[in-house]
Amino acid sequence: MTTANDYRNDIRPNWCPGCGHYGVQAAITDAVVAKNIKPEDLAVISGIGCSSRIGGYFYAYGAHTTHGRALPYAQGVKLANQDLNVIACSGDGDAYAIGMGHTIHAFKRNVNMVYIVMDNHVYGLTKGQTSPRSDVGFVTKTSPHGSFETPLSICETAIAAGATFVAQSYMTNRKELVDLIGQAMDHDGFAFINVFSPCVTYNKRNGYDYFKDALQALPEGFDHHDRAAALKVLGETDGLVTGLLYQDTTRLSFEKAMANANGGPHPRALVHDVVKPDAEL
Ligand code: SF4
Ligand code: MG
Repeated sequence: MTTANDYRNDIRPNWCPGCGHYGVQAAITDAVVAKNIKPEDLAVISGIGCSSRIGGYFYAYGAHTTHGRALPYAQGVKLANQDLNVIACSGDGDAYAIGMGHTIHAFKRNVNMVYIVMDNHVYGLTKGQTSPRSDVGFVTKTSPHGSFETPLSICETAIAAGATFVAQSYMTNRKELVDLIGQAMDHDGFAFINVFSPCVTYNKRNGYDYFKDALQALPEGFDHHDRAAALKVLGETDGLVTGLLYQDTTRLSFEKAMANANGGPHPRALVHDVVKPDAEL
C-alpha cells in the first residue's frame, strides 16, 4: 500500500502561510493514496501561477510547463503513455484566461485525465490582478475602480462545451474533494474539478469566511447525469455550489474513440454510440 510519505519530496512549498493550495495538495495526495496508486504511475502536469507550483511538490512524474499550456502537454503525456494517471493543475488565471482556448477544446476532446483548477478569483503569483473569475467590483491593481466584467461561469461553460465530468469543491471540504478526485480518476474521459482555494494575500474579498458563507452543497438526491438539472442549479446558486454537477458516462474517451475508429482516428469517432471497428465512417 502506498502512503502519503511516498509522494513527499524534499521541496518545501513556498506558498504563503494560509494559502488554500496546501489543502488541494493534501487532497490530491489523499486521493492517490486511497487508490493505492504508485508515484511511478502518476504524472502531475501544471501551467504557471502560484497553484501551478503544485507539480513540483509531489514525488511523481511531472512537468511545470508554460503559461496556459498545462493541458496540451498533459494530453500529450496521456496519449503517449495511456497507463499513466495524469492530473493537470492550474489556477483560474492560467486555465481561464491565457489557457482558455486549450481548456475549451480539452472539455470537448475528452482525453482520459483529470484537470484540477485552483480558483481564488485573482492572479496571485503576479501580485494581485483581476482574473476571469473575479467578482464585479473587485478592486485590484488592474481594476482600481473595481472590476466591471462579469465573472466567467466556468462550470456552465464546461458543460456547454461538452465536458463529460464537471465538479466543484472547496479545499476545506477535504472529504468531498478527496472523493471527487477519486471519482474523477475513475471517470473514463476528461474530468474537470474547479476547486475554490483562497488567496489570503491578494484577495481579501473572497477569503475563507466568504466561501464558508457563500457555498452550498448540491441538493439531496441530485441527479448528476441530468445536464439540464446541472445548468439549473448553477444558475440558481450563481455557481456557488459544490459536488459532482454533471457526468456523462455514455460518451467514449478520445483514446477509445480513436482505437475503435476504422483505420485510425476520425472526427466522427467522437459520437455517443460505440464505434465498431468495421463501422462505415
Ligand atoms: Fe497562495 Fe495568494 Fe500567496 Fe499565491 S499569493 S501563494 S495564491 S496566498
Ligand atoms: Mg488565481
